Amino acid sequence: MSAATESVTGGGAAAHVKSVTVVGGGTMGNGIAQVFASSGYKVNLVDAKSEFVDRALGAITKNLDRVAKKQAWEDGRVKEILARISGGTDLSAAKSSQIIIEAVSESFELKKQIFTTLDAVAPADAILASNTSSISITEIAAVTKRAGQVIGMHFMNPVPVMQLVEIIRGLATTDATYALTEDLSKRLGKTPVEVNDYPGFISNRILMPMINEAVYTLMEGVATKEAIDTVMKLGMNHPMGPLALADLIGLDTCLSIMEVLHQGLGDTKYRPCPLLRKMVAAGYLGRKSGRGFYDYTQA
Ligand code: NAD
Repeated sequence: MSAATESVTGGGAAAHVKSVTVVGGGTMGNGIAQVFASSGYKVNLVDAKSEFVDRALGAITKNLDRVAKKQAWEDGRVKEILARISGGTDLSAAKSSQIIIEAVSESFELKKQIFTTLDAVAPADAILASNTSSISITEIAAVTKRAGQVIGMHFMNPVPVMQLVEIIRGLATTDATYALTEDLSKRLGKTPVEVNDYPGFISNRILMPMINEAVYTLMEGVATKEAIDTVMKLGMNHPMGPLALADLIGLDTCLSIMEVLHQGLGDTKYRPCPLLRKMVAAGYLGRKSGRGFYDYTQA
């Protein structure tokens, strides 16, 4: 048996999971689909338009080709992984899956719509997970008739590389749902961490105010973007500076998370920096749009 199929066999709370539906094939969704397919799972990747599905499949192919070259994979392994992924635009693909992972844009309105539909089409015993960075799992769960089977499964960017999965328990999430999600994360070779449902969970409660402060530091002319990033890299031993990291995450996503922290915790210390708002309004969203704090058009 190849290492790629080992994780779909053996005992444990997630032993029956063979098929996964990922909704949203952007920065995170295509990484999540890649990781599941690489671990032997059948994946349905659903996005709003077929051109977005094609873009996601193209990104996965490019990533896998890069890994195959770097790690000298045997011929055919990339093809074998890609063959497990089917793309489409119809959410009813979820009816064949034991777990559905939502990774659409960070908007509560959008997630509400998606979860209402998923609740209607997914098997009654399926788990509905959200990769949201900050939106309340309890509130998302409340739009479904299966709140006990709704959970946060928060992967980090880039998904194939990063070890952590924050698993967020909504108020109604059952122990069985948690156990399955934890086991599944381990089967992907990830390290799960249990978190209760509060705005920003652990990761973004701590990371985003730092990024937001870096944007204030830039806006106030304290230093250049390069100086800010260099201080945090060389002075604090961070692998990336906060402004480069914001570009990687997506400035629209950073802004949405700050809004959730500001609203959910009600403290002015979480107010989004006006420069962050201005950049998002201008369409400077970071790497995904070719321009953020840095220029990626030549990359
Ligand atoms: P993104 O903008 O790169 O991708 C969002 C995708 O959702 C797009 O492909 C879009 O077409 C799709 N989409 C929008 N409406 C849809 C619909 N109705 N049906 C199906 N697909 C639809 O965003 P992202 O960075 O991948 O973020 C996705 C989620 O993951 C967000 O909740 C975000 O907070 C979270 N997250 C992001 C990061 C990060 O670093 N970017 C890290 C962890 C978690």
